[in-house]
Amino acid sequence: MDENNKPNNQNAEEVTGSSIRSLKDLLDQITGRDLGDISKEGDSGLAELWPFPFLALVGQKEMKLGLLLSLVNPTIGGVLLVGPRGTGKTTAVRGLIDLLPSVSASNCYYGCIEEDIEIGGMDAVCPDCAEKYGKGEPLSSLRKVKLIELPLNAKLDDVVGSIDERSQMHNRMRLRRGILSQADKNILFIDEVNLLSDQVVDVILDAAAQGSYTVKRGPVSAAYRSRFILIGTMNPEEGGLRPQIMDRFGLRLAVQGLDKPNDRLEAYNRSQAYIKHPKKVVDLWVKETIKAQNEIESARQILEDVELPEEVALTAIEMIKHFGIVSLRAELTLLEAAKAYAAIHNRLKVTKEDVFTIAPMILRLRRSEFIKKYIETQDVEENEINKIIKKFSTGK
Ligand SMILES: [Zn+2]
Repeated sequence: MDENNKPNNQNAEEVTGSSIRSLKDLLDQITGRDLGDISKEGDSGLAELWPFPFLALVGQKEMKLGLLLSLVNPTIGGVLLVGPRGTGKTTAVRGLIDLLPSVSASNCYYGCIEEDIEIGGMDAVCPDCAEKYGKGEPLSSLRKVKLIELPLNAKLDDVVGSIDERSQMHNRMRLRRGILSQADKNILFIDEVNLLSDQVVDVILDAAAQGSYTVKRGPVSAAYRSRFILIGTMNPEEGGLRPQIMDRFGLRLAVQGLDKPNDRLEAYNRSQAYIKHPKKVVDLWVKETIKAQNEIESARQILEDVELPEEVALTAIEMIKHFGIVSLRAELTLLEAAKAYAAIHNRLKVTKEDVFTIAPMILRLRRSEFIKKYIETQDVEENEINKIIKKFSTGK
């Protein structure tokens, strides 16, 4: 996208008018769009410099909604898109690039922030940042969230970092930052997460859960922050995911092919137009993209003030219990996603309807046979343990 098209440079109200009241409204209105003459023109010969606009995806309402909720409230804890090949999962995630909000992030290579000094004193940051802090200069500034894509063949060293070979020549060993630390405060996208090695997946999930990780290579060690939104896709036909990995994804979006012939034709026309004229297709959606980006920012801003009435929270928890789901993550995700859902409607109060609407995204793929069996055998073991303890304690 060239400088003139940067969404930030324009005012959303100017370019779109004000008939749209919320992000959700925008999503609902955007589906019908005439491509005009673009489809009749010849090939522009341009390479794919502009991602296919997120809002130009036909249908797939749940997928779009779930991804936007995760941008509004990162506490939801990651998104897994489950569905067969060719349903637009990867295109949708890459299309988020133009919708990403801003975050406060470190200006320093080592990722030092003011908070480090407040918690750990001057030694907690690098000498340069300590000096800056002393002079009252900021260590961080606002920047766009980035979409960091994990390469399919990523090795453990790429993910966590390794010895910087150039530094070895200078006799001062340093670590090269890995993908995980680059993903801090960003989105880490793993396409086909079920094809990654267990070792790499485990490291990523631990780092995501703890928000930081430590690397030791020979005599050098370093700690890095790793607070990111995890987005993964998987095609269930190509193998499953271990339940403990599944549990780490807050939202599970079922992505299916389009049903209606009209929708399929529209999807075909849009993708053909995009292949020939990526920039023109991007331009067709640029106004709504700007509007959506602003709506995401404002939903993020009001999120803190969104109230979750106790009655609504208790209903949500009761419902999860009814499904026999033991993971506390399900509750956390449901309540946080409900807040985000209210926020994208520009509302400051969560309703029971919000909870019911988004519940399937949280509840599916949680009641696996594995978990059921584990609990059953757990009960048997619990009973045995209790019996033996009772025998010892009472002598019976
Ligand atoms: Zn620093």
